[in-house]
Amino acid sequence: MSGASGTGAVTGGMVCGHHHLYSALARGMPAPPRTPKSFLEVLELVWWRLDRALDLDTIRHSARLGALEALEAGTTAIIDHHSSPSAIEGSLDVIADACAEVGVRVVCAYEVTDRNGPDGAAAGLAENERFIRSGGRGLVGAHAAFTLSDATLDAVCGLATDLGVGVHIHVAEGEIDVPAGERLAGRAQDDWLLAHAVHLDRQLPGTVLHNARSNLNNAVGYGRPARWAEAGQRVVLGTDGIGADMVEEARVAFVAHRADDLTASPDVAWSWLEAGYDLVPEARDDQVTWTYSPMDPWHLAYTPGVRPTEIVVDGAVVLDANGPTRVDAAEVRAHAAEAASRLHARLADLP
Ligand SMILES: [Zn+2]
Repeated sequence: MSGASGTGAVTGGMVCGHHHLYSALARGMPAPPRTPKSFLEVLELVWWRLDRALDLDTIRHSARLGALEALEAGTTAIIDHHSSPSAIEGSLDVIADACAEVGVRVVCAYEVTDRNGPDGAAAGLAENERFIRSGGRGLVGAHAAFTLSDATLDAVCGLATDLGVGVHIHVAEGEIDVPAGERLAGRAQDDWLLAHAVHLDRQLPGTVLHNARSNLNNAVGYGRPARWAEAGQRVVLGTDGIGADMVEEARVAFVAHRADDLTASPDVAWSWLEAGYDLVPEARDDQVTWTYSPMDPWHLAYTPGVRPTEIVVDGAVVLDANGPTRVDAAEVRAHAAEAASRLHARLADLP
């Protein structure tokens, strides 16, 4: 990712290896009924209430806002992991369309889980299958081993094999999911995306998706992603839904690495950013011109506010000095704010 043009350096587009575009409207949401005191309670009291309150309209505005913010940060490819138990069918099309409207690439997945009963699991599997068979770019999504029965996990693996795609799943994010190592051994394949792997007790085939800021935010611990990289495994950076500013995420991943190991170089976190091109190769050919030069890890680790001034995707300018060219950023934000109000009102009424 180097080369200079004019005043700012030019790189490929950034890749966000793990996102939840549905979380873009969560900011400012009503406080949970009580303060979560564990990782499981964060899921139960915050995210599993938010996802139930989503409908296709709020999914659309959330995805448009998330894609806009990605583009404004120089991120041209998002690997998304979606959940909306009250509006499953068609949800991946809504996300893909919203990203296309903004001009950002997206790889979709619907999060299969048993936490909403057998019908919920079946509907999740069906949405992945429908979307991918109709030509959508996707992976089979799965929440995490601890919310999946063996039968559902086997159905996820079977569908992914039938479709010829990988599985995008959370793995050992918290201590509650330590058994994931044993349960996914023999099931995971090289094309799987393993989000977090903080407490993973063995090496599994696939790519580890490291989400430094999210792991800090949920107090789940530091997974030492460098150990997987040193063992020859691919590690790619994601945000776990906290925006898609990958330069910022690399900076946080560096400081988390450094807090664990004073000898750590920012080259390591930056290499996890570059590895995103193994997952979405076309993003390497996108052209992002930045406000700064050089785009060198030792500069970026200590330089705030580096932003794109122009972005070219597939030969088309999708962002210039005036902002996004395909959408009106103010309109996207205004509609997202209205949708967030509706979503938050619905959340306040949820049991
Ligand atoms: Zn996640």
